[in-house]
Amino acid sequence: MKLFIACLGTETNTFSPFPTGYRTFEETCLVKGGNHGRDPFLFAVPLVLWRQLASERGWAVVESLCAFAQPSGVTRRSVYESFREEILEDLRRALPVDMVLLSLHGAMVADGYDDCEGDLLARIRALVGPKVPVGAELDLHCHLTHRMVEEATAIVSFKEYPHTDAADRARELFQILSATAAGTLKPHMALYDCRMMGIYHTTSDPMKSFLEKVKHLEQQKGIVSISIAHGFVWGDVSDMGTRILVLSNGQPREGARLAESLGRQLFRLRHRLQPDYKTVDEALGEASTGDGDPVVLADVADNPGGGAPGDSTFILQALVDRRMKDAGLACIWDPMAVAVASEAGEGARFDLRLGGKMGLSSGRPLDLRVTVTRVVPGARQTFGSGANRSVSSLGDAVALRAGGIDIVVNSIRTQTLGSDAFTSLGIDPRTKRILVVKSMQHFHAAFAPLARQILYVDTPGALVSDPTRIPFRKADRSKWPICETVT
Ligand SMILES: [Zn+2]
Repeated sequence: MKLFIACLGTETNTFSPFPTGYRTFEETCLVKGGNHGRDPFLFAVPLVLWRQLASERGWAVVESLCAFAQPSGVTRRSVYESFREEILEDLRRALPVDMVLLSLHGAMVADGYDDCEGDLLARIRALVGPKVPVGAELDLHCHLTHRMVEEATAIVSFKEYPHTDAADRARELFQILSATAAGTLKPHMALYDCRMMGIYHTTSDPMKSFLEKVKHLEQQKGIVSISIAHGFVWGDVSDMGTRILVLSNGQPREGARLAESLGRQLFRLRHRLQPDYKTVDEALGEASTGDGDPVVLADVADNPGGGAPGDSTFILQALVDRRMKDAGLACIWDPMAVAVASEAGEGARFDLRLGGKMGLSSGRPLDLRVTVTRVVPGARQTFGSGANRSVSSLGDAVALRAGGIDIVVNSIRTQTLGSDAFTSLGIDPRTKRILVVKSMQHFHAAFAPLARQILYVDTPGALVSDPTRIPFRKADRSKWPICETVT
């Protein structure tokens, strides 16, 4: 048995003015030939597991490119095409192979390609022919297209948001493809469009209970896997939206029926699925009352994980204006400030212009008197645990203290995932009254255990939370909440 594995992806925010080029991949994750070291990036976790599962069975593995870029604007055409050709060339050289396993995202858009994953899968299918099983693991924030479903043998998306199940889903996909190659499984995929869009946290009801139901249904005879593709509202492509994918063992009618039934159930929950967003004033008002563990404020509109710059100052400004004490904030992306503070060194105290540089959605830069409390070249943060654990780079980072606020400033744009985004900079998050994180929901995995309360703060910013205010041009607007469609 011979496996071919690869990873290519990003989550394209088509509204971001900042293109995704080669350097963004290089900064985030660009590994060749399986050289992941001990700390793989999130989308490399499946590759590491597939290699391990194959070696336990004595199977050969050919690993091509593993390339992932921190979400930003549309990927440059030449960059996408060069990565795609590298994977295809490696596959050509590896042929014949018995199965192909891919770690993709599902919401990658490049100049000239609204569905990069569909394009890549089609080209891989053309090379390996109709009989070789081709599987793809996707992020649940994907635009799950008919083309992907037609070209792949099996697709499995993450179930959890925060995405703490990359390895679990990779194992599932490996088993599906192995059984297919062995001839004991005949995968059939049924796709249902829920006619809705939004952000759905799987850490709270009703999505949490819905997911439990889905996992239970996967135990049903003939049903192999169910994926809920939440969709990615900041990707303006025709296939944007929430979809259900049921993978059955050769039962197209039953699979389609179940996909439709689940899609209709999810649609009925639509009004209760959206996060409870607070204004900055509401959040700081709530956070200021009560004692005990920290209150965590998620700066959702400036989440670099969704393509936002990560340098907005709206919440920091409010903390400064209120002279808040015992507050911590991670991370403001400001390479220039990092360079200046690193050069000044630990203990230095000076005036610094911080953040607010990337555009109107970043707010105004703040002029603060800061003390440099820590300088860490090449800082990193972790996400998830066990086999699902992954590591990402913060770049060079500094901790600055301004009044009663400890601020982590970093040089590689990334959302705040782990509590080590604070601790590795010498800040103990447990001692803070308020913690601000630039993240939509992934922070939840690490911060919920230490938080008294979590508040999602809808600041002004790049990620407009209300889909009715997003200026779509290509996406099908006849969906809830833009239209109250009856399915
Ligand atoms: Zn995602």
